[in-house]
Amino acid sequence: MSDGVNTLSSFMLATQLNSLIEEERLSAHCICQVNRYIVNSLKDGRRVIILMDLDVLKTADVVGANIGNPVPYNEGQGHQQQRSSAPAASPTHSKPQQQNGNSAVGPTTTKYLGPSKQFGKAGGTSFLSTPGGSQSKVVPIASLNPYQSKWTICARVTQKGQVRTWSNSRGEGKLFSIELVDESGEIRATAFNDQVDKFFPLIELNKVYYFTKGHLKTANKQYTAVKNDYEITFHNETSVVPCEDAQHLPSVQFEFVPISDLENTCKDSIVDIIGVCKSYEDISKITVKSSNREVSKRNVHLMDTSGKMVTATLWGDEAERFDGSRQPVVAIKGARVSDFGGRSLSVLSSSTVVVNPDSPEAFKLRGWFDSEGQLLECTSISDLRGGPTTGGNTNWKTLHEAKSENLGQGDKADYFSCVGTVVFLRKENCMYQACPSQDCNKKVIDQQNGLYRCEKCDREFPNFKYRMILSVNIADCQENQWVTCFQESAEVILGQNAAFLGELKEKNEQAFEEVFQNANFSSYEFRIRVKLETYNDESRIKATVMDVKPVNHKEYSKRLIMNIRKNAVQLG
Ligand SMILES: [Zn+2]
Repeated sequence: MSDGVNTLSSFMLATQLNSLIEEERLSAHCICQVNRYIVNSLKDGRRVIILMDLDVLKTADVVGANIGNPVPYNEGQGHQQQRSSAPAASPTHSKPQQQNGNSAVGPTTTKYLGPSKQFGKAGGTSFLSTPGGSQSKVVPIASLNPYQSKWTICARVTQKGQVRTWSNSRGEGKLFSIELVDESGEIRATAFNDQVDKFFPLIELNKVYYFTKGHLKTANKQYTAVKNDYEITFHNETSVVPCEDAQHLPSVQFEFVPISDLENTCKDSIVDIIGVCKSYEDISKITVKSSNREVSKRNVHLMDTSGKMVTATLWGDEAERFDGSRQPVVAIKGARVSDFGGRSLSVLSSSTVVVNPDSPEAFKLRGWFDSEGQLLECTSISDLRGGPTTGGNTNWKTLHEAKSENLGQGDKADYFSCVGTVVFLRKENCMYQACPSQDCNKKVIDQQNGLYRCEKCDREFPNFKYRMILSVNIADCQENQWVTCFQESAEVILGQNAAFLGELKEKNEQAFEEVFQNANFSSYEFRIRVKLETYNDESRIKATVMDVKPVNHKEYSKRLIMNIRKNAVQLG
């Protein structure tokens, strides 16, 4: 390139500008305006200029020839001939006029920062002292490119994926990815193997860090919605240092879609959603067929001011950590819309879930829900019928209603929830000796020789574990009902674990008796499965407790009031 005075041959075009060549707009003799560039010094002292952004002002056919009699540019030839070059000490430059008054910031200064705002620390040049004593300049994310290897960015972690492992013919390994945001833009970064061990425990979601050094490579847009042509791969010289002073950096950016709009959203669309967690389900475990690995899942039911509710499925750690007991506001960035059972949402490994986000939308929603939303009968756009794990629109019934509505008399089991008080426990035969192997709860046969035989495992064991099947009579103000409680729900009602109770039964009959006495007259929320079963030509409703938890009196009172209102409307 020549500016009419000097020529320089070591210019390189950044890959994103390749189209200029392909479209033959950039050719000999055309006139260009260089908007953004980076000067890299090679080891031998030569400089290479990477052109990051340029406009062709006049095409070659219009210009037609060289302008002036330029001579090759030589360093040290005097300042008067270096009109467009910047101080040699700095690795990155913008156009000289852009650098005035904002010298701390890299090439994209005017694009993203006002003159009063500095990157990193307010009011000063941002340098980060690394443990080795060297300093590197903090640059904006938007200026990162593969032609520069020494850089530091100061960025907030807006997404942190879980560690994933792979195994193929070339070996095995693990990786995790994060998404980083500063005021100039966003970028995705991935750590592999050793870097996973080093950085996964260190990096926390929503915190700000200085990230120094890493490979930059062209981003695979197929796998990410992050708006950057490049992505970072950590290597063994990468360092990550917490930054305490970065309140001004943006946090996770959402573009929320109202829940009511999801009904008209295409399957597999990626959306941001915010809602109050009206209710949530217990965790369940499923086995992923492809990897034969067991993962946790949990459905949560989110409602917004549109009065609609949607079921979102959380996975893995996210499912295990989630606590919906105080009806938090939940914001999800990048959930996938599924048409499984009406419309529902799946939280992906690339999604970000923020509970009670510190945002105006969240405050507005909280205020609305606490004042009126909680009394609203919302309709779910997700299909909540069916199995025991779907309990979004909790089917609250009194025991009398469950009987008079013939629940469980159909072909399929019915599920309902009620509040009931324990009035009688049948302690006879409530415990049995079961196979000690994991996941096998088959009753064992006492061989009377110190060994216990499991027919299912076809093995004899020197020990057994106690399991429980407890018949409980529960009552509300109109009715009572015998229900069967298995292990976990029996342990909740008796307040003791089965192993301890088994020991008591053998050694201290009176203490065992007391446990049952003490369990009487406590009230719980029961989720009950009812199904007509036939034994010896006799049909009767079998009621099984699927879940039992303490009564949330506040919630219960709210439901009572809602029922009274509903009845009042029906009665006119
Ligand atoms: Zn067994």
